[in-house]
Amino acid sequence: MTVEIAKTAGFCFGVKRAVDTVYAEIEKEKARAAEGGAPCPIYTFGPIIHNDEVVEDLRGKGVEPIGLEDLDRVPPGRVIIRSHGVDRRTMEELRSRGFEVIDATCPFVSKIHQTVREASENGEFVIVIGDPEHAEVLGITGWVNGPYTVVQNEDDIRKLSVSEDAKVCIVSQTTFNFEKFHFLVEQLKKISYYSRAVNTICNATQSRQSEARELAARADVMIVIGGKHSSNTQKLYEICKNECSRTYFVQTVKDLSTEDLPFGGVVGITAGASTPINIIEEVGNLCLS
Ligand code: SF4
Repeated sequence: MTVEIAKTAGFCFGVKRAVDTVYAEIEKEKARAAEGGAPCPIYTFGPIIHNDEVVEDLRGKGVEPIGLEDLDRVPPGRVIIRSHGVDRRTMEELRSRGFEVIDATCPFVSKIHQTVREASENGEFVIVIGDPEHAEVLGITGWVNGPYTVVQNEDDIRKLSVSEDAKVCIVSQTTFNFEKFHFLVEQLKKISYYSRAVNTICNATQSRQSEARELAARADVMIVIGGKHSSNTQKLYEICKNECSRTYFVQTVKDLSTEDLPFGGVVGITAGASTPINIIEEVGNLCLS
């Protein structure tokens, strides 16, 4: 049996940057304490990534994930914004409540915030292609200064009421499926003559999706590793399942049984953006054992 791990599996640039920021803050806090400085709690705004192991490791080091609902309960401290970003109001609320905001929003997401803010200030109707419930999309729409909507399929587009001479700016959730984005943009362009689409799907996602598709197409068994709440992992799973019927979605090596593995052939492994390298290696080692 051959085990092939996709080169693009695991942490992307933005997630690595956010996780590294938290560990760097922990080190700074230790240094401050060693010098006798007053302790300053460290929080992340929501779990820093969709990975329970990492979140628990951070909790063990004193880093608590919090939300707006916790601000009355916890003492002010430093709060790290995860790579998904947040809406403008949340930033303002945290600062006005005495929290120091450390912004680890992925620069690609911050760029979308800037795009939609400027588009709405120029009078454009903003359409975000993505999951309306996803934290990144909620963050993006929170920077729009005018009318907007979120669509994720043709049905949503059919229900839209945008006048055909409206100026429209279309952006995407960074982790949206590349082909679906192009298809939906074509549909949206039929509605308004003045649509412009900004492809804000991140390269990390595109490369991970293309590599996963290519690997799944020639694999006998495909394993997709990631958190059950991770939308980019769910999309990877969909893509792989289309190419390889024996595709398994696992969170850790514990979810995989050797009975799921073939006796020969190719086992492909890919992983979502929030999956640490040690979890990928553990799965790879089980396949080889
Ligand atoms: Fe940034 Fe792309 Fe990673 Fe999202 S997937 S955090 S946009 S690098």
